[in-house]
Amino acid sequence: MATLKEKLYDELKLKLALSVEGVNYEHGIFDSVLEEDPMLKKFDYCTWDKQLVTTKQYSVPSSIVLEHGFDVGVVVDRDSPYKIEKASDKDFVVTRNGQLLSNISFLPSPKFYSKMTSDGTPMRVVGSSLSGLSPDKSVIFGYSTECAVKDNDETCLFCVMNGTKGLDAPETRPPWKTSAQISETAKAAYDEGYSHLTITGGFIPERREVEYYLDVAESIQLALGVEDFNGQACIGAPMDLSVIDRYKEAGFSSIGLNTEVWRKEYFDIVCPGKVRMCGGYDNWIKALEHAVKVFGRGKVRSCFVAGLQPKDVLFEGLEYLASIGVITIASSWVPGIGSPLEGHRSPTVDWHWDVQLRHANLLRKNGFTYKEIFDATPGRGFAHEIYQIEDETLPIFSAIQDEG
Ligand code: SF4
Repeated sequence: MATLKEKLYDELKLKLALSVEGVNYEHGIFDSVLEEDPMLKKFDYCTWDKQLVTTKQYSVPSSIVLEHGFDVGVVVDRDSPYKIEKASDKDFVVTRNGQLLSNISFLPSPKFYSKMTSDGTPMRVVGSSLSGLSPDKSVIFGYSTECAVKDNDETCLFCVMNGTKGLDAPETRPPWKTSAQISETAKAAYDEGYSHLTITGGFIPERREVEYYLDVAESIQLALGVEDFNGQACIGAPMDLSVIDRYKEAGFSSIGLNTEVWRKEYFDIVCPGKVRMCGGYDNWIKALEHAVKVFGRGKVRSCFVAGLQPKDVLFEGLEYLASIGVITIASSWVPGIGSPLEGHRSPTVDWHWDVQLRHANLLRKNGFTYKEIFDATPGRGFAHEIYQIEDETLPIFSAIQDEG
């Protein structure tokens, strides 16, 4: 009989498969769930089904939760062999070619989703919870719905940000979030037990991000009444590296610079806007090295889009950055609508699964702790889950002990 750890790894691989291969469903099956809790509705476009969003029939929950508690963001693909089906009035399951794989449930919405900021903006459209059922709670704020690289038609090849404008819903989502909207939402989330936040967004014309971020940090400090709010600023490499020091002085405890792909020849093709606006690949790597000097080991993160280049090249980058103290993320590439690579396909589930296992092992080998990974990354990635399976710290381990 399979051990609990084996079952958890099987379920985690299913989570990966559902993210990479997407999931199908019959139109309307989520209506009763979304009527009961409208805050569950997904409104970012991590999907391959353009018709669904252009006809405004994109009515799915943000996430589902598998039997052992792993939450999965819903990625819609009408051709996927995976399907969410109704087993009864209230019960849902996920199947593959008709074979039952897991019962599923839906995440309860955070309380702050139902609140408003003082200017009447729903907090649901200001910040997003990324924590699933985990007691370690993290919220992310995407301050903009556009990135300035679009002006020169230089959107990063995998990025959906500039291609989903006009498809965006709900209509109440502000194109630009003020520091007050963010700090009030952060306060509501922290009052509810959240303990980490990330501020991110596209490039601001003329690279005026730093002023904006400093303003947001000050506003959050005032709202929370603390200097250290365990916040991460996700930025593009500045031409003047001393700008990185200013983020630290402003109160951010960690910083993110997403490299996306390793080696200059890939970076030049995949991220043309970052090349032009951030001093090119060499400056990007120098910025990461400088950030570790300023923020410290384990307080700098860099995200890679796994699936855009050969595995050995990807791991060359992951290994180098981990060795200098950068916590890396290996996000499985989902070629969403609106990205320049819309319509392409990601590598196989097995390819991605191997990346995730090796990547978690690499972080461990370089001495990074679960807490450091939590503090340096937005939301939960596969590294979090793998650490928690190996350390037996997922809530399910204590639940089973209590039962015993
Ligand atoms: S820099 Fe690239 S990845 Fe970042 S928001 Fe702009 S287009 Fe997207």
